[in-house]
Amino acid sequence: MKYSDITGHRSTVDSLRDIVDTDHIPHAILLGGQEGIGKMRLARAFVSYLYCMDRKDGDSCGKCPACLQNAHHNNPDVHYVFPRIGAASKSTDAFLPQWHDFIDKHSYMPKEEWARAIDAGNSVPVIYRNDAAEISRTAALSSFAYRYKTYIIWMPEKMQPQCANALLKLLEEPFPNTIFILVSNEPDKLLPTIFSRTQRFNLKPLNDEEVAGILASEGIPYAEAQEVAALSEGNMIKAFDIAGEGGEIKEFSGLYMQMMRLAYARNAGGLRMLSDAIAAMGREKNARFLAYCARLTRENFIYNLKTPELNAMTRGEEDFSVRFSPFINYKNVERLMSEIQRAHDDILRNANARLVMFDFMLKIMMLLRK
Ligand SMILES: [Zn+2]
Repeated sequence: MKYSDITGHRSTVDSLRDIVDTDHIPHAILLGGQEGIGKMRLARAFVSYLYCMDRKDGDSCGKCPACLQNAHHNNPDVHYVFPRIGAASKSTDAFLPQWHDFIDKHSYMPKEEWARAIDAGNSVPVIYRNDAAEISRTAALSSFAYRYKTYIIWMPEKMQPQCANALLKLLEEPFPNTIFILVSNEPDKLLPTIFSRTQRFNLKPLNDEEVAGILASEGIPYAEAQEVAALSEGNMIKAFDIAGEGGEIKEFSGLYMQMMRLAYARNAGGLRMLSDAIAAMGREKNARFLAYCARLTRENFIYNLKTPELNAMTRGEEDFSVRFSPFINYKNVERLMSEIQRAHDDILRNANARLVMFDFMLKIMMLLRK
């Protein structure tokens, strides 16, 4: 990972580069901000730059032995600490193969994906006291190959209290040339005493252009990437989720529009055929369709308020809503939403999907022209 791989966060990149260039490296750095904005990518780019033996144009070279070691996760002086499951006494090392695979494939760090990778099931991964003990043990040793020893701690807010206290001790009496990088989604949940001992960087969500740019570089057509970006709140994890379901969003919006046109025309026969077709898609997908109906209905209601900053729709949805939104209003919105919710609940309760969907559409028909 190099600085040139980082999208956004320019001023933080500049500051991080600067502290290395001027040799003013603090012993604890906190990269804080909402998930999905690339904080771990930034931490990794910083580490590459720190160790690189041939820095060029303000970036690591990507070719020297240190850069290769960092890229292959075998720099003996760089350690990762992360939430995990299992016996507290179990060594974190047991999770390293999954960890390396995870940060390579999911560099924006979706925590659900990590939980899946380690088969967490219903357990919530945490950082154990033992993990801090392991840090103290290795931090006391001198570095193996390089001047600095680095610990990158992902989600330090998941440290158990005893672990946090042990880390605090390390921050209070730092070993020379030992650097801690805390990569936190919720820095306000850290112990204030830890927080205050770090040099802090507050990272903002990515802007729509940055999100679209990243999606486009992953092969998503730019127009679509822009639509997804508008819904993603600057969070790449969300953006990748939406883009992955892009096909489904398009399909659902087509079905919603068809349903509303038939309902407005009071075409019960057409609604019968449409509801049968949707019921045939299976229960899970029916539930997702109804969740989509709730979203677009709510968006249409909001659209009437003429406050675009409150709306989050794709361009296709908005084109439809320009004309459709007046039909969702104060008189019917509440009942429409509760009918959608009821159908959603019935579907999940294993009621007959064909009956539920047809009944639901008839209700929509009645409510639409009230
Ligand atoms: Zn290098």
